[in-house]
Amino acid sequence: VEAIVADLQALLAAAVGAGHVLAASGIPADYGHDEALDVAPVQPAFLVRPGSTAEVAAVLRVASEQRVGVTARGSGTGLAGAARPGPGGVLVSFERMNRVLEIDDANNVAVVQPGVTLAELDRAAAGQGLVYPVFPGEMTASLGGTIATNAGGMRAVKYGVTRNHVLGLEAVLASGEVLRSGGKHVKVSSGYDLTQLLIGSEGTLALVTEAVVRLYPRLSFQATVLAPFASLEQVTAAVPRIIATGIGPLICEYVDVLTMAAITADGDIDLGIPAGVRESAIAYLVVMLEERTQDRLDDGVAELADQLTRLGAADVYVPAAPAARRLVEAREKAFWSAKGAGAHDILDAVVPRAAMAAFFDDVTRATAGSGGALVAGCGHAGDGNVHLAVFQPDAAARDRLLREIFAAAAARGGAVSGEHGIGVAKKQYFLELADPVAVALMRRVKQAFDPRGILGPGVLFDSPVAAGGTE
Ligand SMILES: Cc1cc2nc3c(=O)[nH]c(=O)nc-3n(C[C@H](O)[C@H](O)[C@H](O)COP(=O)(O)OP(=O)(O)OC[C@H]3O[C@@H](n4cnc5c(N)ncnc54)[C@H](O)[C@@H]3O)c2cc1C
Repeated sequence: VEAIVADLQALLAAAVGAGHVLAASGIPADYGHDEALDVAPVQPAFLVRPGSTAEVAAVLRVASEQRVGVTARGSGTGLAGAARPGPGGVLVSFERMNRVLEIDDANNVAVVQPGVTLAELDRAAAGQGLVYPVFPGEMTASLGGTIATNAGGMRAVKYGVTRNHVLGLEAVLASGEVLRSGGKHVKVSSGYDLTQLLIGSEGTLALVTEAVVRLYPRLSFQATVLAPFASLEQVTAAVPRIIATGIGPLICEYVDVLTMAAITADGDIDLGIPAGVRESAIAYLVVMLEERTQDRLDDGVAELADQLTRLGAADVYVPAAPAARRLVEAREKAFWSAKGAGAHDILDAVVPRAAMAAFFDDVTRATAGSGGALVAGCGHAGDGNVHLAVFQPDAAARDRLLREIFAAAAARGGAVSGEHGIGVAKKQYFLELADPVAVALMRRVKQAFDPRGILGPGVLFDSPVAAGGTE
């Protein structure tokens, strides 16, 4: 075994340079996990840091020949355990492929390497008055990781999710071949859309080495409107009505009363809401608008405030910019508040927007029957994407509760995950609940891209590879 491991190390060193290969004991513990709460860390056999597409291809040729599992890693902020390496496998970190190659303001696109973070791309785009509109709560996330998970985030209600913004990809197949699909053109009807197939595939089909993403004009006038409601039903009923006005919110988030108390306490934020209103509130809607001019923004805020009042809000607040910014930041960091409070898992089921109220009833019923579990949440209300923090220390009871919640989401016409992905964490629920014809076809797609099953061992499906393939 030692000789095989030494051989593999030498082959990987030949692929990326000895200085960019770390063997097991020298790999920092952080690389053994992402941010999923319920996934145990795994130490990979090797960590490699390629600096170019050619080096990624060389690594995959070695792994394919040696039949060793390969897991891609961006920034490790994923919430599904998809970047957790397989035991005995190779972890490919894209941290050295971190250049914004081009901001093309004539075509309104950026060309980026996968290790660029969202914060870095935002800085580069802002310099040209442009924005890449994918803002998940974590701006340290990488372009490669957000493409592989089809990340959403708060602004998806206005702009859509990652797959709406990726025009082209360069990616390395398991065999080491380099695939190019799409480009700077905004439309294409030329065969199967492989760009779209790779988006959201969680590192199981190919490793992304370059991407062309859309940029949009950066609008400078923003306001946040906060509305407390006496019931969650009122909040969920209000959302489709707000969308239907055509005001076009930039974000439309619901925050339940427990989560609001936690995030405002953690962020030390005073929103100026009188105690009487706070005490009667069960949930809040946080709606943000952005416009090209102050006049348009003022009109939008007035119309929205009027709508919210008619939809039953106890009151409507427009916090001053610093407090509003801190509220939105605190909402983005709600995951850390939940983790700090001891949450055992986080889930992000998605249902049709109009089914949210019924789904919440399902969740309440399932929680009541789950031996003292507590479920608190917030989420992308405009997208029907519910983020629930689950507090239930008993693993078997938690599993039953999650199964019931996911089954309810599926029964309401939704899915297990709206944006975090399936990874290793939610695999059993996905495999049980997704359309069996679709799952069987996905397995055949996986087989076509990666016949030796080396990519993303254990992610989405149980993996056939020997090394790095065990659960
Ligand atoms: C506080 C917090 C808030 C969050 N809020 C949101 C949110 O609102 N919306 C949302 O969608 N997500 C959210 N997330 C989850 C996370 O930020 C996203 O899943 C993000 O897309 C992960 O990016 P990453 O670079 O960290 O990827 P990683 O965790 O490193 O990897 C994620 C997946 O991408 C694959 N991958 C990485 N690079 C490549 C590549 N080059 N080629 C192929 N596959 C690759 C990995 O193998 C893995 O399958 C949040 C996370 C945190 C911690």
